[in-house]
Amino acid sequence: MKDKIQLKALAKINLCLDVLRRREDGYHEVRMIMQTISLYDELELRKVKQPGIQVRTNLYYLPTNENNLVYKAADLLREEFRITDGISIQLQKKIPVAAGMAGGSADAAAVLWGMNQMYGLGLSRKDLMDRGVRLGADIPYCILRGTALAEGIGEQLAPLPPMPKCYILIAKPGISVSTRAVYENLHANDLRPEQHPDVDAVISDIRGRDLAGLSAHMGNVLEEVTVPAHPVIDRIKKCMMQEGALGAMMSGSGPTVFGIFDTQGKARKAYRAVRAAQLARQVYLTVPYNVRR
Ligand code: ATP
Repeated sequence: MKDKIQLKALAKINLCLDVLRRREDGYHEVRMIMQTISLYDELELRKVKQPGIQVRTNLYYLPTNENNLVYKAADLLREEFRITDGISIQLQKKIPVAAGMAGGSADAAAVLWGMNQMYGLGLSRKDLMDRGVRLGADIPYCILRGTALAEGIGEQLAPLPPMPKCYILIAKPGISVSTRAVYENLHANDLRPEQHPDVDAVISDIRGRDLAGLSAHMGNVLEEVTVPAHPVIDRIKKCMMQEGALGAMMSGSGPTVFGIFDTQGKARKAYRAVRAAQLARQVYLTVPYNVRR
């Protein structure tokens, strides 16, 4: 057993996102292709004398009580395994918040993983996923990582081969989007067939290692709601395309936009262009991450 552990919580983008229908219980049935990227929050878990869970973070506006997903994740395993130590969680956020990048879910997944290691709980990856889904539909994927098809409410996962090598530019404009409101305004049961992206085409492109095909076939049905409300998203996409992106799209419910580039030179140039046009506050140049847990 260890007294402390350092962890990386990696962000995701959606290479494709379709919503099949709204269920009677209000949940939405989705079909999404998830991709982990090398943009991450850093966490340190530490056993401490002071009882309870203490969360500290570099972002003043994030909750540090039971409303933070890292608190919830630690508490879940503490209760189940009757862990009496105090736990301190230091969270250094870099993943844009409320941005469609599953930042909170990645943090929670890291805490579940880290607690399992720190206390030698002996939980398998599947055991951790079963517990994670109680806190959020994206958490099982954040435990798995890599390229994957997510179905159901996002928790049914089928691993895919890694996406082809590329450079990914991330740009988060300075606006906030509520995931819940975006799904509510989609009216998922009234979508026309042509509004649904071709998820199977993207899967074929990944299997065929066809980066240009993948970039051309990408689609996100949630753009229907978020883009008209926030035209800056379209402007960022256009800027990235003008700079040579093979494709550019909104991730999750937005407002983060990502662009896919085949060379680092083009991606760097696009980075400078997005910054110079002041289209986004947070801009990062990164790559896909394909090591699974
Ligand atoms: P998704 O892609 O799953 O929709 P998201 O990127 O839209 O996620 P998050 O950044 O995970 O959204 O967080 C959304 C809200 O959750 C924030 O407004 C914040 O108050 C709350 N939250 C709780 N815990 C965390 C955390 N560890 N990191 C970020 N936000 C958190």
